[in-house]
Amino acid sequence: MALIVQKYGGSSVSDAEGIKRVAKRIVETKKAGNDVVVVVSAMGDTTDELVDLAHEISPAPSGRELDMLLTAGERISMSLVAMAIIQLGQKARSFTGSQAGLVTDAIHGNANIVDVTPTRVFAALEDGAVAIVAGFQGFNRKTGDITTLGRGGSDTTAVALAAAMNADVCEIYTDVDGVFTADPRIVPSAHKLDFVTAEEMLELASAGAKVLYIRAVEFARRHGVKLHVRSSFSSKIGTIVADHKEGDNVEAPIITGVATDKDEAKITVVGVPDKIGRAAELFGIVAGEGTSIDMIVQNISAAATGRTDISFTLPIGDGPRVVAALNRHREDLEFDSVVYDDQIAKLAIVGAGMRTHPGVSARFFGALADAGINIEMISTSDIRISVVTRLDSLAEAVQAVHTAFGLDASGEAVVYGGTGR
Ligand code: ADP
Ligand code: ASP
Ligand code: MG
Repeated sequence: MALIVQKYGGSSVSDAEGIKRVAKRIVETKKAGNDVVVVVSAMGDTTDELVDLAHEISPAPSGRELDMLLTAGERISMSLVAMAIIQLGQKARSFTGSQAGLVTDAIHGNANIVDVTPTRVFAALEDGAVAIVAGFQGFNRKTGDITTLGRGGSDTTAVALAAAMNADVCEIYTDVDGVFTADPRIVPSAHKLDFVTAEEMLELASAGAKVLYIRAVEFARRHGVKLHVRSSFSSKIGTIVADHKEGDNVEAPIITGVATDKDEAKITVVGVPDKIGRAAELFGIVAGEGTSIDMIVQNISAAATGRTDISFTLPIGDGPRVVAALNRHREDLEFDSVVYDDQIAKLAIVGAGMRTHPGVSARFFGALADAGINIEMISTSDIRISVVTRLDSLAEAVQAVHTAFGLDASGEAVVYGGTGR
């Protein structure tokens, strides 16, 4: 008998029909003799809709109240999934994040899991029931308040429970057949990967492949949790994400996949005095806004002498706030102006083969040049090269790169549901 944690994303439980389909699958897994713990996301685009609603009420809603609001989404789906399972004649019991023992720090909107005490989840299994846990949420012991784990955080809930309960596998059910060589919504010729190393998945996720949430991959890697990303709409085997592929000695391809991110913006601080410590002060202000920046480029200013322009990318949602904070410090930092650009996109190629194969960058930049794509920023790690391009040329750019590295499949990838929001 195995213990299986199954996580169903919003696209898998977007309506009553989806919930019934998922319940059938859960009951089959249970009937096959397994203990099953299920983690659910909010139905469809509920979380986005609740965020929009909150912003109609207040431009900067209280973090505590926003978490109270958003966690309601997962509460709706957990109870409905439990009802659907009971309707099929199996025992099921739903739990909120706090009932399931997901203890976090007190950072609203982006809390970190500090402890997992799934006593009631174990008790439900002991009683022969399927345990359904609301994803994306926890609570802080000190404040007693409900927290959320950051967007896409249900993946983290699932991995944390799988680790704490010593599950045999953590299955992430979504609306595509697994992890592909590129987002199949953008590149129809992308092909499904049977296996991805946790290291590469971490880079793909951090470069925007939202099929898995970066913190979940990190957690899984640290705790040795084996992930199986697959579709809840088909019975096909998906993608295994783990440290090593069992019994494999075939050389991996140079490039594993291409990731894209449309949710970033670029800020350029123009005419920063070229003095020691200025960049530290500037990024201190940015950090004070609680944002995480990604690429940074410093250039000699074209407009002013003895000065530099500093550009960086950050999540689009943080853009206006950071611009306002920088402008408040314009006089003490002595820069000229701030330029904000939200019409950018990021594209990255990821592959461990890059370490040992020369010529990867030449092929990458060659493909972009042939497609007439202008590159605005570049950054690299030892297994990733990222660039910033115009948002409206992203689809063309990713297709060109995908083809240049021989990743195209002969058929078309299937996207079963979801809106890609
Ligand atoms: P869920 O509702 O299950 O959480 P998400 O929308 O968060 O689903 O993630 C699944 C989506 O991730 C897919 O529909 C696809 O558009 C997108 N995606 C981006 N990059 C990839 C990739 N490399 N492989 C598979 N899907 C990807
Ligand atoms: N419902 C949350 C979100 O949309 C968490 C998740 O789906 O993983 O971000
Ligand atoms: Mg997701």
